Order: sequence, then structure tokens, then C-alpha cells
Amino acid sequence: MNVLTKKHLLAVIKKSGIGILILDESLNIILTNQWILKHSNLRESDLQNKHISDVFTDLVGTRTLKSIQQCLEFSQYSILTHTLNPFPFPLFENEQKKLKNERIYQYLHVIPISIDDEPNRFCMIQISDVSQQVIREKLLREQMIIAKERETEAKKASQAKTDFLASMSHEIRTPLNAILGMADTLNETDLSEEQTEYLTVLRNSGRALYNIINDILDFSRIESGKLEIEFVDFSIHELIQETISLFLIKAKTKGIHISYSISEEISPMIKGDSTRIQQILINLIGNAMKFTEKGSIFIKLMLSEKKEHLVFEVKDTGIGIPNDKLQSIFESFTQVDSSTTRKYGGTGLGLSITKKLILMMNGTISVQSELGKGSTFQIEIPYEGLLPSESNQKQHWLDLELPNPENFPPCKILLAEDSDENVFIIKTFLRKYPIQLDIAQNGKEAFEKFKCGDYDLVLMDMQMPEMDGMEATKQIRIFEQRNIKNQSGETPIIAISANVQKEEIKKSFLAGITSYLAKPVRKIEILKLIYYYIAH
Ligand code: ADP
Repeated sequence: MNVLTKKHLLAVIKKSGIGILILDESLNIILTNQWILKHSNLRESDLQNKHISDVFTDLVGTRTLKSIQQCLEFSQYSILTHTLNPFPFPLFENEQKKLKNERIYQYLHVIPISIDDEPNRFCMIQISDVSQQVIREKLLREQMIIAKERETEAKKASQAKTDFLASMSHEIRTPLNAILGMADTLNETDLSEEQTEYLTVLRNSGRALYNIINDILDFSRIESGKLEIEFVDFSIHELIQETISLFLIKAKTKGIHISYSISEEISPMIKGDSTRIQQILINLIGNAMKFTEKGSIFIKLMLSEKKEHLVFEVKDTGIGIPNDKLQSIFESFTQVDSSTTRKYGGTGLGLSITKKLILMMNGTISVQSELGKGSTFQIEIPYEGLLPSESNQKQHWLDLELPNPENFPPCKILLAEDSDENVFIIKTFLRKYPIQLDIAQNGKEAFEKFKCGDYDLVLMDMQMPEMDGMEATKQIRIFEQRNIKNQSGETPIIAISANVQKEEIKKSFLAGITSYLAKPVRKIEILKLIYYYIAH
């Protein structure tokens, strides 16, 4: 067996791949190795038996020297990393680096050495070159910063796109409201058969355009996280009947049979977002109608096995969807093939919005389809049925029977609205009713007029120049409180706004509005709401 002699051990230290320095208690260097000589560019005689701070003058007052002193004095072991120790040994990779004073990054072990039966203590310093790792780390960190910056930029760009979509669709909606409102009003006048036909095309195209704009607006709202899901009580039977009735004429013209069934287990009143559930059903039934030439559409509503979910099924006998497209149809702007747009129209946004809405309700959507035979879309959303005693039986203003104009209660209304077109539309909506309508062009004027006039009701546009609807409402409420103007309580203020975000609506109610109508205002809605407040 070979035994390592003192000579061998010395050779091991001399040729070691890391730097080794051994100091005695007086901080004199008693042993060094080739690695140190190479990187310090010194000769052995420059180091041997020299005080460490005489050789490496830079070390005076640094952490490195302090650690060496503590090692010899208290036998303390230290590790000094390049991050904790910005002043390591003046060691260099090569002559060039030395000229530039670029030291190598070092990882130091300062190790106390003592042998049991000897009083002398030593300090061994091991120096590893970690420059490669540090450079790699730095590079990685830089790449991460760049990636993060890119991500932020991408997010900003996506946000800008979403905001642009939202404001564009809003801008398009406003004039479109006027077109639809006027078309509705024109429909009430005496028209020849030919004119009625032209008007039908105008109204249908207007509505189709309106639906597309709404889809884009919804999509951008969902993308920017601005769409919220409501939780209200509603009748599921009414919702299904109402939704199907929207398709009856179309079904009849196409010769398609449309029917539905609702499981008796489902309670008549349930909790959820009725508007969004209806929107989902309209999308699915609309697609079924669009892609079915003959046969039937069947809507089935049941409970899941554990009775925890409402399950909607929309089944058609239409063209079907190829297997490899079953997933991608849920992505934005995706259609089975580009000829779809030419033949059937559509934006490819419907199913993407539908899926996003369902996910927001913590639900799921799936589809089964066979080419040429038909498709079945199934959605599941959490179910919360109400007991009959829990349902709120209060009559909704939309359920009111509107009297004929001659039986409508005469009243005086203040309309605060800056857009001439909107004023014109509302004027034409109300023209046959005994309503005296005063107009204010902005919130300030509305407040001044309110103080002098004796109004039964105020219609308040929320976005107006100079003073907006929110501020005008607040001023009116303060004025009412100070003057006890209206003996029977506050004057009803109906806000009219295109901004239907929950937060905005909440703020408007806090400002003091009584009720809220979303733009585009339909004639029947505004009349019923006015009637509700005037007659009650
Ligand atoms: P759009 O109908 O506006 O094109 P959707 O997102 O609603 O957009 O649908 C995406 C695509 O999925 C449609 O273009 C069509 O190719 C396919 N699709 C959806 N529903 C059906 C269906 N019931 N039958 C056949 N294909 C369908």
C-alpha cells in the first residue's frame, strides 16, 4: 500500500486547482501554491514568510483581512462570497485584466487549522475562481429583466388595444343608437309596403351591426377584467321562453323545429346572472340556427347528478363541426374555415365570449359533434335554486302594462342631455304622451332648471360637458334637502348612460340617482320606467 509522505502532500497543495495560502499566527505567509503565483503574478520569494498585508497592501481594512485575523485569534471559520466581499485578493485572470484592474470573482474559505497536541495555530485560505458562474448569473439576470420589460410592454400594448376596442365600439354605438331609435320611430308612421320593406332591412342590419359591436365591447371588457358577474334572483322558465321567442320567426322561415324542456327538479326561481346566461343561450341557439338548414333545435335544461350544477344543452341537426376543430372554435376570431364568414357571416367571437363568461361563472362548456349530423353544446354552471318563500314577488317595472297615451298620467320631465341626436330620439319616443319635456344641455343647466321648475322626474345623461350627471345629481339632492322642495320625497332621477360597469352604477346610486337605464334606451323601457315612477 502506498503511503503519502510529507513531500507528496506538499505537491498536492502546490498543484491544487484552487488558490491556497497558509498563514501563521503573526499573519506571515508560510505556504502558497502555483495557482496563487499564477494569478497574483508574484514569485514565491515575494510571498514566502512575508506579512500578508505587506504583500497584498489592498487588503488592509477589508473584510478579508478581518476574517483572517478572527480565524487566528478565535479559530473562527468564515466563508466570503463575492457578493458579501467586494474587496477580495488582487488576483487576475491574465496580464490584460490586471492592467484594467479587473479582479477575478472569488469565493473564499478562511479555515482555522490546529493540531491537538501543538500550541501553534494556522489559518488556511482557499480561493476559488467563480468568475464564470458570476458572469453567467449576471447574463441570466439581464435576460430576465429584458424578458420582464418585454412582458410589460406586451401587456401595455394589449391593454392599449383593449382600450381602443372599448372606446371605438362605444363611439360606434352612440350614432348607431340614433339610427336604431329613428328606424323604430319611423316604423310607427304611415309607410307604404315598399317603404316598410326597406325599413325592415335597415332595422335588421342595424341590429346585426349592434350585436357585433356589443360582442367586441364585451370581449374587450372581459379581456381587461372590467366585466363582472351579477348574482340576482330570476325565473329560469321566463328566461328560456323569452330567449327562444327571439328565434321563433327565424325558425319558422327556415322550417326548423325549435323546442325545449326544463327538468321539474329545477326551482322556478334561481340565483345567477340572468343577462349573461341569456347572452350565452342567444349565442348557442343563434349558432345552432345559423348552421342548421333543416331539422330541429332542442334546448334541454336539467340538473347535474349531484344537483350542484345547472346543465344546459343546445342540440341541433346542422352541418356539424370537424373533430380537429372542436377545441379551436372557442378561441377568439376563429371559425371552422374561412368560407364560414362568406356563407354564414359572424365574427368568430361568439363562442370565445361564451366560454369566457362561463369560466367567470365557474362553469364549463363542452361540445360533441358529427359532421353532417349536428352538434350538441353543453354548459354547466353552479346551481342555486330558491325556495318559493325566498323569491321576491315585487313587480318589476318591465312587467308593467303601459297605458295608451291618452290614459298616461300628465307630467313634467327634465331631460339633461348634451347630444342633440339623443334629445331628438327621446323627444320622438315621448311625443304622443302628455309629457312636458324641458331640455338642459349639461349638468349645470340641469341644476339651474331643476331649482326653478317643478319637475316630476329627471332623465339624466351621465356623461356631459361642464358638469356631469353624477355631480348634477349630487347638487340636486343637496338642494332638495336644504329646501324640502318635494314634500313627497326626492324627485326620481333616472340615469341614462352607456357606461354599464358595476362600479360606475354603484357610484351613480351613491350620488343619489333613483334608477338606471343603459344606452341604447329603448322606447318601451323609458316609457315603462317613467310610468312606474309617475304612477306609483
Ligand atoms: P361566429 O358564429 O360569429 O362565426 P362563434 O365563435 O360563435 O363565431 O363560432 C365559431 C365557429 O364555430 C363558427 O364560425 C362555426 O364554424 C363553428 N360553430 C359554432 N357553432 C356551431 C354549430 N352549432 N354548428 C356548426 N358549427 C358551429
